Amino acid sequence: MSGRFTHALFGRVVFEEGEEYLSFQYRFLIVVQLAAALATGLFLLGESTQLNRIDTPHVRSMAVFTALSLLLWLLLRGQRHRLRPIAFTYLAACELEYLSALLYVPQDEMRVLWFLTHIPGVYLLLGRRWGAGVTLGNLVGLLLLNPRLSAPYSANAMATLAVAMGYLALFFHVYVHRSISYVRQVQQLNRRLREMATHDTLTGLLEPRAYYDASERQLAAAGRSGRACAVLFVDLDHFKRINDTHGHAAGDEVLRQVARQLRETVRQGDLVGRIGGEEFSLFLPDTDEEQAATLAERLRARIEQLRIEAGGRPIPVTASIGVAACAGGSLAMAEIQKQADAAMYEAKARGRNRVSRLGNRIPPARPA
Ligand code: GH3
Ligand code: MG
Ligand code: MG
Repeated sequence: MSGRFTHALFGRVVFEEGEEYLSFQYRFLIVVQLAAALATGLFLLGESTQLNRIDTPHVRSMAVFTALSLLLWLLLRGQRHRLRPIAFTYLAACELEYLSALLYVPQDEMRVLWFLTHIPGVYLLLGRRWGAGVTLGNLVGLLLLNPRLSAPYSANAMATLAVAMGYLALFFHVYVHRSISYVRQVQQLNRRLREMATHDTLTGLLEPRAYYDASERQLAAAGRSGRACAVLFVDLDHFKRINDTHGHAAGDEVLRQVARQLRETVRQGDLVGRIGGEEFSLFLPDTDEEQAATLAERLRARIEQLRIEAGGRPIPVTASIGVAACAGGSLAMAEIQKQADAAMYEAKARGRNRVSRLGNRIPPARPA
């Protein structure tokens, strides 16, 4: 389907990830409404050209139904929040239309089949409870109404219809349940895959690519709104020595605990990425250089206070942290990260276990 045709049919609607079934229901309802309007429209055309004969009360009902289906389509088009009330209204209109055919078109023996074709729509649009309720209601209603029709259906015809409706309802009862649970499973798998693709397995922090992508977006937003932002670059001190002295597994445990400390210390909207073996970068929206340096100092102190042991021996852990500000959105993320890098190397050069920002040194909290 071409984009223009799709737009004319469905309007401008956005469905988020996880709303796939809702999106299907929205499109399904529009297609069904238009198909129904077209079908009744053709019947009316046949009647006006004497091709087929329909009694007057039902001609009126069909005209109303055609107009209503088109009106409901126009009301729904582009307005996804109206899906449920319009689905109810449309399906109720269908019921009345089929009842009208049953009462006023006795020469059409097949008209009772519309109650059968109604079942999938109710299941797909309103769910299993309504599907079962409407099917049962229609069945009982038909059995009660049949003797009062001008030309009642035979007991055999009624039994066949009842079995066919029950069969179709059962089929859709199972189908709707299964298809919704499959959609949910696929959504869950997608979420897990994305989580795996964007998060580091050891620490649970963002992987470099996901971190930089998200940071670029935040940086652009900060540039637009004129708000401050800052980047911290955290590198653990003498980490090779930790691995060499206590083993790689102990090193991994240190990384996990440092990552947890970073995550728990920062605010909700801050981004924390593991961008190298023992290197972390933090993007802090709505934070100026001063506030970033204060946070960096708090992080440095917390990392230093971590009590991690390997085989009963304490592992001393410290970090050097570089601070860089976004400079009002004039710098690219790579440039800011480079400044934070340089500041971090300066902290290393000055003896490690400290926070540094270029050209504006923060004295260490205590001698290293
Ligand atoms: P400096 O204070 O100058 O930063 O010294 P450093 O020893 O931390 O320097 P360097 O960056 O060269 O060392 C990083 C070490 O981190 C080297 C590497 O073996 C180790 N490493 C990298 N990834 C992992 C990992 O996933 N687990 C563990 N246990 N170690 C890792
Ligand atoms: Mg390093
Ligand atoms: Mg290091």
